[in-house]
Amino acid sequence: MRQVVILGATGSIGCSTLSVLARHPEQFKVLALTAATQTSKILAQCLEFQPRFAAMLCTKAAAELKVALARHGCATQVMSGQQAINELAAHPDADIVMAAIVGAAGLMPTLAAVEQGKTVLLANKEALVMSGELFMAKVQRHGTTLLPIDSEHNAIFQCLPATAQQATQPVTLAQMGIAKLLLTGSGGPFLTRELNTLNKVTVAEAIAHPNWSMGQKISVDSATMMNKGLEFIEARWLFNCAPSDIEVVIHPQSIIHSMVQYTDGSVLAQLGQPDMRTPIAHALAFPNRMSSPVSPLDFSQLANFSFSKPDPERYPNLFLAMAACAAGQGATTALNAANEIAVAAFINEQIRFTDIVRLNEKSLAHFLNYAARSLDDIVALDFEARAYAQQLVRTLN
Ligand code: NAD
Ligand code: MG
Repeated sequence: MRQVVILGATGSIGCSTLSVLARHPEQFKVLALTAATQTSKILAQCLEFQPRFAAMLCTKAAAELKVALARHGCATQVMSGQQAINELAAHPDADIVMAAIVGAAGLMPTLAAVEQGKTVLLANKEALVMSGELFMAKVQRHGTTLLPIDSEHNAIFQCLPATAQQATQPVTLAQMGIAKLLLTGSGGPFLTRELNTLNKVTVAEAIAHPNWSMGQKISVDSATMMNKGLEFIEARWLFNCAPSDIEVVIHPQSIIHSMVQYTDGSVLAQLGQPDMRTPIAHALAFPNRMSSPVSPLDFSQLANFSFSKPDPERYPNLFLAMAACAAGQGATTALNAANEIAVAAFINEQIRFTDIVRLNEKSLAHFLNYAARSLDDIVALDFEARAYAQQLVRTLN
């Protein structure tokens, strides 16, 4: 029986994780659930999965949860605050930690799990975008098993040689006989929309992804393709490669989740429904396989697959992220921070959809050559870049 902690249990990935775990009660026990504020959702999850612990970021939400659990006679112990979430991520009884908090807020708890050598299932891409070099060094130092949940990175991982999947030391692409990683992306909801109408995009339109159902922030990132940019940076660290080893390919059907091109001309791809429960089940069972609630692919029902190159005019955010990746950890931390502020401001209807890239571009230009080596540097830069971006939001208003 392996004990699982879910950071960000009430989110899209958190709920998908619980849906996979519910099928395999003989293999996994939920040790702890954490969330920011959503009391009613985590209450229902506690009643169903009976975790030993639940932690809420918000103290008031934690107090409400405690009362509600007592009313139902549920023995789950409630904790509150950032520190409690970090402690649960590092709990001595935890075997597997699902890192599914959204944004920079996921960095510290995810690192806490890494430092305890847990099996870390990484959905929170922003942690790697901010701290990739330092994060991967800690993974090495603590003998952590790091398994990618992001569908593209999970696909690439599945297409690697089995020896590389289980290697305890970093392996280079050349050692694996790999020429290139092909990172696919659907192009989001605005793949064919007239470019001169993008400034009119509403929040509802931006979060309506054609293929995937996800949290709000990543949905907006998918519409701007900043998501693919963050994934580009994520891939660079996860697979120990150079930015020039990664190519982004638009594949609007989201059936091929990414590919690996080998030096002999072979291309291996992982295919499946656009449903995160497949990569989640893969990582939970790794190196074995287990069932998930996802329906099988029926090739007779699939439309044609198509592929194209991303257009820099349509997706300038993707190219900003690639530039940040080439510049280094300071640039990627600042761009990530700016983007979180910009996306939140767009969702709050303070700025237009096309202002997101303006704000990101200005922020990246300002912080491009900032160095951020230590965790303290990264946290300080994240803070500074947020303040800078907030100021830009005010000037755009
Ligand atoms: P979501 O918004 O649906 O859920 C976020 C979760 O994090 C919630 O449980 C929320 O309570 C918690 N949370 C938010 N802010 C917090 C804070 N400050 N402290 C503690 N907890 C906090 O997000 P999601 O779509 O599930 O995405 C989660 C992460 O997984 C993101 O980094 C995203 O990029 C990544 N991801 C998601 C998908 C997907 O299909 N949803 C796919 C690939 C990667
Ligand atoms: Mg993805």
